[in-house]
This record gives sequence, C-alpha cells and structure tokens, in this order.
Amino acid sequence: MIDENHLHGDPGIDVHPHHHPASAEGASPLQRDPARTIFQKGAPGRSAFQCPETEVPAVDLERLLPARLRREQPPRLPEVSEPEIVRHYVGISKRNFDLDSGFYPLGSCTMKHNPRLHERAAALPGHARLHPLQDGASAQGALELMWNLQQALAEISGLPHVSLQPSAGSHGELAGVLVTRAYHEDRGEQRHKVLTPDTAHGTNPATVTMAGLEVVKLATDEHGGIDLDDLRAKADEDVACLMLTNPNTLGVFDANIVEIAEIVHGVGATLYYDGANLNAVMGLSRPGDMGFDIVHFNLHKSFTQPHGGGGPGSGPIAVSERVAPYLPVPTVARREGSRGDGLPAFELDFGEGAAGSKSIGRLRGFHGNYGCFVRSYAYIRSLGGDGLRDASEAAVLNANYLRARLRQEGAGSVAEHLPLAYGDLCMHEFVLSGGPMKRALGIKTLDLAKRLLDYGFHPPTVYFPLLVDEALMVEPTETETRETLDAFAHAIGAILAEAAEDPAIAADAPYTTPVRRLDEVAAAKSPVIREAL
Ligand SMILES: *Cc1c(COP(=O)(O)O)cnc(C)c1O
Repeated sequence: MIDENHLHGDPGIDVHPHHHPASAEGASPLQRDPARTIFQKGAPGRSAFQCPETEVPAVDLERLLPARLRREQPPRLPEVSEPEIVRHYVGISKRNFDLDSGFYPLGSCTMKHNPRLHERAAALPGHARLHPLQDGASAQGALELMWNLQQALAEISGLPHVSLQPSAGSHGELAGVLVTRAYHEDRGEQRHKVLTPDTAHGTNPATVTMAGLEVVKLATDEHGGIDLDDLRAKADEDVACLMLTNPNTLGVFDANIVEIAEIVHGVGATLYYDGANLNAVMGLSRPGDMGFDIVHFNLHKSFTQPHGGGGPGSGPIAVSERVAPYLPVPTVARREGSRGDGLPAFELDFGEGAAGSKSIGRLRGFHGNYGCFVRSYAYIRSLGGDGLRDASEAAVLNANYLRARLRQEGAGSVAEHLPLAYGDLCMHEFVLSGGPMKRALGIKTLDLAKRLLDYGFHPPTVYFPLLVDEALMVEPTETETRETLDAFAHAIGAILAEAAEDPAIAADAPYTTPVRRLDEVAAAKSPVIREAL
C-alpha cells in the first residue's frame, strides 16, 4: 500500500523511506540534498541555449537607456544546462503531493481532476499569445469567449450580471462586499455589520475586515444550518450583508434558505453566496433562485483549473439587478451588428464612464488569468447543462458513498472513533470529528492526516470548520473511482487499527515524504523567500 516510488526526488538524492519510527533517521532527503536551489547548480558560462550571431547592427546601450535605468552588474541568473533545468524542476515537482499523483480529498477545496483537453484549448496560440495591451479589434475571439463565459455563469447562478474581474474566491468576496457597501452608501446609509455563520470559511470574516466592516458571528443549529433565532436577534438596520455558503462547510444544505433570505432582505441587507461549494449544486439549484444577491465562483475549484500552488485562479462574481450598477468594471459587452459585416462586436465595457458610473471600479489592470477563462469555458461547453448536473450529482454520490463506506470500515470502529459531526446524509463533502479517536486511541486528527501521506493519500482538510472538535473534512469529488474511495476508507481503518496497537506510529508520521513535520505557523508568518547566495 505504501507507495515509495512517487516520492523519490532528484536522481542522486539518497531517499530511504521509513514507515516505522524505529527505523526513522533524523535528516530528511531535502536536508541531505547538497544542491538545493537552481542557483547552486550549474557552472559559470554554462547555458541551455545559444543564440545565433545577430545580423542586426549593434546599438550602443547608452543611446537607448539613460544611465539611471541601466544595471552596473549583470543580473545573477542561474547558469545551467537544459537537462539540469529539467531535472531541477521535475525533481521539485516529485517532492510535492499533487492531484496527478494521488487522491486529494481536501474538503472545501474541490481538488478534482483537470481534464487535459482544457490545456490544449488554453495553449492555442490565439489564447496563449494574447498581449495585455492588444487592441480589442484583434482579440474579438477572446472577448467573445469571455462574454460567453459571463452568460454561462449567469445561467448557472441565476443572477444576470457577471464580472470576470476578481482573481480568486476571496477576491470575489472582497468585490461582493465592496459592491454591498457601495449599494448602501448610494442609498445614503452607513451600515457597519456583516453576519457570517460560525461555519464560514476564514476568508469570509477576513474579507469583511478588509472592506472596513465589522464581523458578527451567527450560531449553527443542531442540524448544521443557521440558527434562525440567532439570525432574527442579530438582523437589524446596521447589517449590510449576510455571507453564506449553501451547502455550508459542514456539507449540509440549509433548508431554511428562503426564510433566511426573507429575514435578511427584510432589514434591507444583501445576501452573499460564497460559491466555493457550487460543486454540489451545479445545474441543480441556483443561488439567484434561493434569493441571493451576489455570488462568487471559484473557477479553479468547481470549473477545473490546476490549483493549490497559489494561482492563477479566477473568482468572477454574478449579481442581481438590485446591486448591478456597482459591479466591478470592465465587463465584456456584445454590440449587435456594430462590426459592419452583420456580426456582433465584443468590447470591454467601463460602464457609464468614470464620472457617472456607480461601479466600484477596477480590481486589477489586466485579465492576466485569461487562461482560466478558457479552461472553465471548455469545461462548461464540453459538459453542457446536463453534464454539469451529472458532475454535481456524482460529487454528492461519491461523498455519500465514502461517508457510508467509512462507517462500515473496521467492523464499525471507524464510525465509533470518527463520527459524522452533523446530519446523516451529506452534500459534496462531510465533516468527521476526531474527538472520540483522540480520547480512545491517543492520536489527534493531525496525526491521522500526516499518516495518510505514508499511505499515498493527501490528507483531508483538518481543524476546519472550527466548531467541530478535531475536525476532518472530506471532499472526494466526482472524478474519483469507487476503488480509490474504497482504498482511502481502508487506509483510515488501517491507521486506526495501527493506533490501537501503538499510537506513536501516527504521532511521528509521516515517514515516507521528503520532509517530515514542518512548522506551519513559522512557514506562514516568517517565510524564507530569498536565500542568501
Ligand atoms: C476556497 C474557498 C474560499 C476562498 O477561495 P480562494 O479562491 O482560495 O480565495 C472561500 N470560501 C470557501 C468555502 C472556500 O472553500
């Protein structure tokens, strides 16, 4: 079961996987690797490519660039051969766990397979070689694709106006909250509070704070939905917005959504849909029909982009008529017959012009993540409406299969040690509590997660949502086979059985990865991003 091969790094690095603490040695392969950065490889004068002699007459640099813009020293660049470059990056890629090497059930993140067809489409020269300053007249195909994507997202969300400006889910949240603020200010109101459930993704309260508003937490009821009494008590004229995801991060669909929308609209606030969980409901239910005013999409989650390494992502928002004037610009507009040949023209639309516009403005200068639009559009078009619905149904089915399968594992002992936190059926993901496991077997959710790496699986999301004790959040997605789900359930059973014998095994895991346990807080708070050369 333990896959040792996929963890090997550079040829020449001494990797000896250990699966048991008794045989583990301190130094990791990374520490033993004598040449770690590409700057430490190669030799002076070595290069991957030689340019032919130029036939263009040389011009003195002094004539082209003023002295203050010229370097005194040439830049320090790695001097390496092509095979060294290839081995360097392939070696690094093999040290990471990625979706292409194994099951990655990271709850809330929707790590589903990214169809390779999308890469073909995104790499077409007309897409890949677009220039950011290219004249719109020579980029009509690209603008038309963006317009079509806007239309598709409007249809999927049930909200008619779309802006592709935001570059991530959290960026879409910021756009949505700024749109809300502009809407209230335009009506002469200063509202200060934004309600977020205690199951909310961390980006929701972070967004509220960045937008200069105040976070007010809402409690969760015994079914895992919003506590309506708490909502009624807190919904007042100072509330700007309620941010919600449905299904929420517990994998529970809030059946009270219509009543929630009434309460929120009753006090004049907007209802925001965190669309990161759209993978459960594509083609099945629409945020617009549930009463939401604003939704962000994570194109890199539900609509397939390679993600998890920090970008590029895409977080478009769709909004209702009520807040449409405040939408970030530019959007893409279609002008009928304006090209002269009877065909529609597509252009960037900046609204009524800077002075008259109520738009919150631009969120960035260029659509540098255009490749994301191509991939997601390819996904939407290749599946079609029916296909998107099938994908969501399969995502929910896979999650429920795995949930039920885990319950049977180890003759019921997994169910006993890792009970479902809320509800019975789930949507596209489910949350287990590792509290009983910790008390009975002496291993924490973190230990279980780390040990899963030795079994060849990426761990689920851990310690989120915060209200679940020792939370383990599993999202298998629709692209995994039944065999994979079975193997994962089996691995969880095996780890718990191991822990019953010797909790130290999981407590010291992982043993087979290039690095062991890292100081994640230090990595986030004081990252070493530049190595002294
Ligand atoms: C991923 C996620 C976000 C944030 O999206 P990013 O694209 O990572 O900024 C927000 N809410 C939920 C529920 C998410 O899963």
